[in-house]
Amino acid sequence: MDYRKLAERLLPGDYPTPEFYEEKYPPRALPAGAEVTRLAPSPTGFIHLGNLFAAIANERVAHRSGGVLYLRIEDTDLKRKVDGAVEAVIGALKYFDIKFDEGAEIGGDETYAPWYQRQRAEIYRAFAKKLIAEGRAYPCFCTEEELSALREEQTAKKEITGYYGKYARCRNLSEEEIYRNLDAGKPFVIRLRSLGNPENKLKLRDAVKGEITVTENDQDVVILKSDGIPTYHFAHAIDDHFMRTTLVIRGEEWLASLPIHVELFDALGFRRPRYGHNCSLMKQDGETRRKLSKRKDPELSLEFYRKEGYYPRAVKVYMLTLLNSNFEEWYLKNPAADLNEFPFKVEKMSKSGALFDLDKLNDISKNELALLDEKAMLVFLKDWAAEFGTSAQKNYFADEEKMLRVLTLCMGVGGKKRRKDFTTASQAMEFIRYFFERPEAHEEYRAERETVCAVLRDFLQSYSPADDSQAWFGKVKEVAAAHGYAAEMRDYKASPESYKGSVADVAEILRIATTGRANTPDLYTIMQILGEEETRARLKCATENP
Ligand code: GLU
Repeated sequence: MDYRKLAERLLPGDYPTPEFYEEKYPPRALPAGAEVTRLAPSPTGFIHLGNLFAAIANERVAHRSGGVLYLRIEDTDLKRKVDGAVEAVIGALKYFDIKFDEGAEIGGDETYAPWYQRQRAEIYRAFAKKLIAEGRAYPCFCTEEELSALREEQTAKKEITGYYGKYARCRNLSEEEIYRNLDAGKPFVIRLRSLGNPENKLKLRDAVKGEITVTENDQDVVILKSDGIPTYHFAHAIDDHFMRTTLVIRGEEWLASLPIHVELFDALGFRRPRYGHNCSLMKQDGETRRKLSKRKDPELSLEFYRKEGYYPRAVKVYMLTLLNSNFEEWYLKNPAADLNEFPFKVEKMSKSGALFDLDKLNDISKNELALLDEKAMLVFLKDWAAEFGTSAQKNYFADEEKMLRVLTLCMGVGGKKRRKDFTTASQAMEFIRYFFERPEAHEEYRAERETVCAVLRDFLQSYSPADDSQAWFGKVKEVAAAHGYAAEMRDYKASPESYKGSVADVAEILRIATTGRANTPDLYTIMQILGEEETRARLKCATENP
């Protein structure tokens, strides 16, 4: 068969030569050892923890080696495209301090642009044409119906599904049949003519998993769809070559496609990048471990972490803990260090499933937030509230001095003995809510209603905001004594049966009335922050409807 003629018929016109592209996209001028890595998401609008996992690894490898991290958008499948998805990817990753050097909506060195696959149509066609002219690709006229009938047949026979070997019907069409179909205007796709044999095993070196064995590809995969748009597999091989990617770290769900990618690189005459397939994030679900699922686990989506207000560094610390086995030890020694100083190594990435545990992340978050000073905490909460908070929450920041006093109290005064009550911004905002909004509901008092009202009324009479904490506590004691509670703890301990309770129980009544909660930081300071008017109003209100 005259493959050149066929190529001209299928993709008419002059296309640039491979040499032209080799010159147009020259090898990058980078120092020896510098890695070029990329993130290549489809613009589906869903960006998940697995993406972040791979992004951190790619970013670390690129930047530690003095290389480049770029963002390529794999938008060949229009059906999956969502508006604003690219900005969402960039925004989500920026939150976790992942910075791209170049790419879609980022800019940077234009040499390897454009970074949207849809804008690179000509180059894919040029190489498809080359493969056709070499007999390595052919037109396939099978219709959707024929292909699904084929799938059914293969499924019924319990055979591997797909277009391969004896099932690849259009692979052996005669020249005459091909031209007859073309003359009849039948739509066609272009398929790779696979030379692989599934009996053959390929031994490859995976940068993460070490030596792996995969089965040679024998699928005649589609490389150009009927509208001339490439498939992901084909575009990926061409782009990784001409964008001069040296290392691809991606999720292990792509391992199954690796034999296809290997054959494409070989067929195109390109040197393959190194691949590292990182393990999937697993979740303990009762007795079993399973992959995190989009449907069942909200924590899979990166949106979740922003909405909940996880401190980005905490998420990154946890991801690094899962990514590199020696990170935890390093981090214990260098708790305040810039995370970028950690000597990240691809070889130290774990080879099999990493267990993702939200409780662990929460612990890390508590520690990380406890390292912040009040001002940094204020900025963090304020930024979160501006984006996700209710209008009441946004208002908490109207008086920043008050907010600082609240945070100083809630985080533990003096910085040394930090409290670790805050996990996320949303949880912290809920935690400090009673400083800014009157409690709608009160936790239950342990004392009887009559006693509660009497205690509150008495306290209101003696309360003065000018008191220092000792004088204030003296008054609480007086109220305690007046209502049958022991004013001194030691008296109560010596003979508990002689009292209704102790001064601590009276303080609890005041605490619940003021804040709605039985557990809070120092009540005297809370009243100071609330101010006289508000404190009185709350205590009074509590006597009316406790
Ligand atoms: N476009 C693929 C994705 O959506 C990228 C696969 C790869 O990194 O090679 O994840």
